[in-house]
Amino acid sequence: MPAVTARAAAYPPLVDRPADARGLEAARGTMVGLQLRARGIVDERVLAAMAAVPRERFVPAESLDHAYADAALRIAAGQTISQPYMVALMTQLLDPPLGCRVLEIGTGSGYQAAVLAAMGCDVLGVERLAELASAARERIAALGFGVRVEIRVGDGSLGWDAGAPWERIIVAAGAPTVSEELVAQLADGGRLVIPVGGRREQDLLLVERHGAELVTTDHGPCVFVPLRGAGGWA
Ligand code: SAH
Repeated sequence: MPAVTARAAAYPPLVDRPADARGLEAARGTMVGLQLRARGIVDERVLAAMAAVPRERFVPAESLDHAYADAALRIAAGQTISQPYMVALMTQLLDPPLGCRVLEIGTGSGYQAAVLAAMGCDVLGVERLAELASAARERIAALGFGVRVEIRVGDGSLGWDAGAPWERIIVAAGAPTVSEELVAQLADGGRLVIPVGGRREQDLLLVERHGAELVTTDHGPCVFVPLRGAGGWA
């Protein structure tokens, strides 16, 4: 029927409206190619993990069509799931070896934690909002990553002393500064990836520890929700 055909054709292309599983898988592949590889993500382990983890499982049902959009998306409690490129860039900078212990501050949807687990990391995620932590735990368990990921509810703005030293620390919320406490929990040879700056806009920093020496490099502007708590914003 011509009317139906015309209507179907009026929908945006499959990549933007991936309403079925095949569409979602295709959209995931397109995301890896166009948003990550073409923009300079070169770590094949990061690319493979992001090609494997179903991001659609981490976004709210009403955002399913945008699961592979080139953007951060709203999740519950006014928080966000980071843009795929930002997850890839942070993970590439983190450069976690196989079997590495990672502290993740700001687990949110759990997507970043799942990507790290898919790369063979053991992740301790800290999330201040219990509602988000329990949803993230369920998603991660359903995907079979439960053995690699533990999620705690709490203020991770000053790190998580109980598990220190950490080989890798990734902070997924914007911090006013790099706190001494966080750096003190970084193992020798360790790497910390953290957005630092104002409440609305930050710079993505990589802090590498070589013995007593800290080397900080700036990897460009980024936009994260504020890190709250003792080492964050009020
Ligand atoms: N990595 C997430 C992005 C989460 S957005 C993902 O892949 O979806 C940042 C998260 O940091 C929010 O869920 C917010 O609640 C959390 N957060 C903010 N301050 C925090 C703190 N001090 N400790 C733990 N989590 C915090």
